[in-house]
Amino acid sequence: MNIEEIISKMTLKEKIALCTGADFWNTKKYEKYGIPSVKMSDGPHGVRCQVKESDMLGINDSHPATCFPTAVTAGATWNKELYRKEGKAIAKEAQALGVSVVLGPGCNIKRNPLGGRNFEYLSEDPYLSGSMAAEFIKGVQSMGVAACVKHFVANNQEDQRQSSDSILDERTLREIYLKPFEIAVKSGKPQTVMSSYNKVNGVYVSDNAWLLDRVLREEWGFDGAVITDWGGMNNRIAAFRAGCDLNMPGGSKYMHKAVYRAVKKGRLNEKYIDESVRRILTLTEKLQNIPKAPFDPEEHHALAKRIAVEGAVLLKNEGGILPLTDTDAVLIGSMAKDIRYQGIGSSHINPTKLSSLTDAMPEIEYLPCGNSEGDVTDCEIDAAVKAAEKKRVAILAVGLPENYESEAFDREHMSLPDGYNKLVEAVAKVNKNTVVLLFGGGVMELPWADKVAAILYMGLGGQAVGEAAAELISGKANPSGKLSESWAQIYGDVVSSDTFGQKNAEYREGIYVGYRYYDKSGISPRYPFGHGLSYTSFEYSSLSVSDRKVTFYVKNIGDRKGAEVAQVYVAAPWNDSYREEKKLCGFEKIELDAGESREISIALDDGSFAFWKGGWHIQSGEYSILVGASSKDIRLEGKIMIEGEDTEPEKPSAAWYSSPKGKPTKEDWEALLGHKVEYPKKQKKRDFTLASTISEMRQSSLFMKIVAAVVELVLRVKFKSKSSTTYKMMLASVEECPVRAMEICSGGAMNDTLAKLIILIAKII
Ligand code: BGC
Repeated sequence: MNIEEIISKMTLKEKIALCTGADFWNTKKYEKYGIPSVKMSDGPHGVRCQVKESDMLGINDSHPATCFPTAVTAGATWNKELYRKEGKAIAKEAQALGVSVVLGPGCNIKRNPLGGRNFEYLSEDPYLSGSMAAEFIKGVQSMGVAACVKHFVANNQEDQRQSSDSILDERTLREIYLKPFEIAVKSGKPQTVMSSYNKVNGVYVSDNAWLLDRVLREEWGFDGAVITDWGGMNNRIAAFRAGCDLNMPGGSKYMHKAVYRAVKKGRLNEKYIDESVRRILTLTEKLQNIPKAPFDPEEHHALAKRIAVEGAVLLKNEGGILPLTDTDAVLIGSMAKDIRYQGIGSSHINPTKLSSLTDAMPEIEYLPCGNSEGDVTDCEIDAAVKAAEKKRVAILAVGLPENYESEAFDREHMSLPDGYNKLVEAVAKVNKNTVVLLFGGGVMELPWADKVAAILYMGLGGQAVGEAAAELISGKANPSGKLSESWAQIYGDVVSSDTFGQKNAEYREGIYVGYRYYDKSGISPRYPFGHGLSYTSFEYSSLSVSDRKVTFYVKNIGDRKGAEVAQVYVAAPWNDSYREEKKLCGFEKIELDAGESREISIALDDGSFAFWKGGWHIQSGEYSILVGASSKDIRLEGKIMIEGEDTEPEKPSAAWYSSPKGKPTKEDWEALLGHKVEYPKKQKKRDFTLASTISEMRQSSLFMKIVAAVVELVLRVKFKSKSSTTYKMMLASVEECPVRAMEICSGGAMNDTLAKLIILIAKII
């Protein structure tokens, strides 16, 4: 393909059109120029290649594909090589389905446990998120398929996801939210990046030249194509200027016309369009003739199982109750049969097969109990108690019901359903050997944690999760997952709990996200970042630190084979300043036979010591190197002298940032930002634009109130129950969809003339 020649021959209209998808999943093809189309598909943990009807929420059928564990579980493996293998396997399946861009990995930070899509993200820590994502990208792209790292950036809530504004200071943005993308882009070299729906400091990411052009391209050297999230294009003219190349899926025609007019009137330089066309054609060219690699679905199922095994976290195991030594046990709870193994939304996979726990453990007596929404009757609890009394061990399968967490809406709270809590309490009262198996995509409050003997967190472990859980319970496999996010005791302990989910997403906590907050505030999470037990134990020794290389030994001192995730944290000595107490800068997972010992060597880099102050800076001085089995279980400590600058991080005038106690106030945060922040006002009718959402407009427009009520009614009739996850997801999606994206999200049922008419009527009535 002679790209320059094609660009010179294409008309302006054709070039503008090329920068918008042909349909839901394909780019446009132009036979006369020899430009083929490129097919994309979600996603992060499997290929969601749709059969007929397309949608962005995983509702219509897709071809069977291996459903790997979701990122919450993959992140907890801390196994880069394994995640790379997953990427490679997904790419092979993509090839088989004619897909050449895989829309994943997701590497947004888990800022708050209620984030509805946290299950699709890897960690609360930028280093862990970025380094895992980079490996996934390498795996996908090793097969010639392109990866698309998403959702760039500060896209940390689902409520009002298409109109929220993430407001944060540059240091927080750089050190926490951009960091995983920086690592993923620089190390993984993805061919595409997906811009997120939200605004960052008042500007939609699709239009954000500072983020897309300056940071992503200029500073990080990204040379691929930027693709919008589906329906996430705000202003096509600004977006061309910003370097947002491909508007997905098919875009509104009015955007084409506006761009055409802007070029003709000299308001937009055609070079921006040429640049986007060049990047799209370069991508298209690279993705031609990808050789198909055969694969065995059984092998991929086995890989999914291995990831599920390695990502399961043994939170507690008193008296070594696990693994089971006999079959004198009862398995209680419907989740053992109707297992939760993936989340809802665009990442939803049609699995090639699915193993439940009851299938995988036929030798253990099973008692169904409760429904899929977590309702458990008194009668069922009585039956569970009776069954538990008769056995040496009672295993309970509980977790977050599907309708608690999903794309498009955030979780309402951090609790399990009451029914499950009552069930666990009742069974734990009669059987001291109660083991809880937890399923779900994120942190849960566990009020009964001290009353049960063991807790094994299976996350959302993909299609082989039942087999994985069975192997762990029986001892065929040894747990080796570590939490990739802190588990707060109660939601109120989470630093962003007072303000999370608002339209103005106020990132008041600054850099104190996850363990960075718990470390410094002195609040103890129930289970800290990096925590996870094994059936064996490990000893750390002989730390040496020289030339930014950290070397130490880990020995398996138990009686069975097991794997350990050794974690390296760096701590700056200036603990009374606005700085985290320590941060993760390296890790390695190693498998050791009983009695085996091995040396681990981890290289630190500038990023391990740097902070942001208008640029990256390293303060000279002596830093501590902390090596441990979790962020709270530090086994070895060393020192390193770093020659840097005679500088220190900015000191915000609000004391909270040097010594965080409780939650920051708005005033504290404004002191950090250096300016006041207005609360968003109710939109007046005259201010409605194509970017307004139904939920914004219904506050002052009767017409929109009626539209919202009709939408709700139609969806209620269609999905029958208000608690159906699909109903909740669809309702949130429609209500929060900007008018400009309705054409896209409604699959073409609405066009831009109708959209403009709707706004006009809403302005009047
Ligand atoms: C999601 C993206 C996804 C896209 C296409 C959007 O709703 O936010 O993650 O890739 O749909 O399905």
